[in-house]
Amino acid sequence: MSRFAREDINAISPYIPGEQPRDRKYIKLNTNENPYELSSGAVNAISKRFLADLRRYSDPECTELHRAIADYYGLDSQNVLATNGSDEALAFAFYAYCRDGVCYADVTYGFYDVIANLFGCKAEHIPLKSDFTIDGRDYFNKGKTIVIANPNAQTGVALDGGIIREIIEKNSENIVILDQAYADFGNFNAIPLIKQYKNLVVVNTFSKSRSLAGARVGYVIADSELISDLKKVKNSFHPYNVNAISQALAVAAIRDKEYFENTVKKVKEVREKLAGGLKALGYIVLPSSANFILAESPNICGRDLYIKLKQKGVLVRHLSDERIENFVRITVGSEEENEKFLKILTEIEEDEMR
Ligand code: PMP
Repeated sequence: MSRFAREDINAISPYIPGEQPRDRKYIKLNTNENPYELSSGAVNAISKRFLADLRRYSDPECTELHRAIADYYGLDSQNVLATNGSDEALAFAFYAYCRDGVCYADVTYGFYDVIANLFGCKAEHIPLKSDFTIDGRDYFNKGKTIVIANPNAQTGVALDGGIIREIIEKNSENIVILDQAYADFGNFNAIPLIKQYKNLVVVNTFSKSRSLAGARVGYVIADSELISDLKKVKNSFHPYNVNAISQALAVAAIRDKEYFENTVKKVKEVREKLAGGLKALGYIVLPSSANFILAESPNICGRDLYIKLKQKGVLVRHLSDERIENFVRITVGSEEENEKFLKILTEIEEDEMR
């Protein structure tokens, strides 16, 4: 730390993103990206004419993107705020609603702790049950803001709509933030509930189900009064938060419903094949509603398995979190990547048994 920086920077422990290596070509199953490319409609949205117009600032109101997202969900533009990835949406929501206290699972998305720490929010960690599920009753009448990733990050396990509704109802005096980064791969989407619940903030992203991780587009869906709060934060921090290229890509991506539905369907199919392949090798596999699977080898600890896979050209994520340190998190790749991965994994497990 330099002598110029403010004291409390010392206490910040920043988020460490998954590897994005440039040294060789890996089968990359470590950061929950989509294995399928962007739809051609989205690619064609960026014409030469469009690029020439980059001399202008992007639309700070994200008018077209807000309308496209609102149309997709049958809502009003006033219910939408586009952000620079959903990490930014989470940061705005933590800033607006979490200073007096926030709670979330002990095993979940690591960024929650980082932002809570940065903004001085007092955070409570609620332990997952021993089977890594969330007990919804632990979140009743908390008297503070609640953040739930549903499906949960790292585990892929989801809560159903019934218990989510109960949690929202049992905290009517507090905000409930539902992080739905992976919800498109599951069976429940809370977005329609914002019409009914004025304390619900849904955070979503184009990074996973819409193949746009590199464009950095996320969004918040909530009652218009909450969106006004968050817009105030956004305009005090970064008024042009979503660049023009990303706005255009996201508009085209959300309008291409057929491509989205096809690719999500393929990811779900491959996920079930991957889970089957892992179980056949004796792995403990958590039931995933996301585009990744958390799994534990019967023979090799998480860290060693991560290293062995990397040596053979496969990247998975090993998370240092104590409760899941024997697991690895495997992103669902394409059918072809999945077959190659299971073949390599079988070789590693056979070597271990020799
Ligand atoms: N929420 C969860 C649960 C995530 O796993 C991620 C991705 N790491 C994000 C939010 C942020 O994604 P992005 O900023 O790419 O939208």
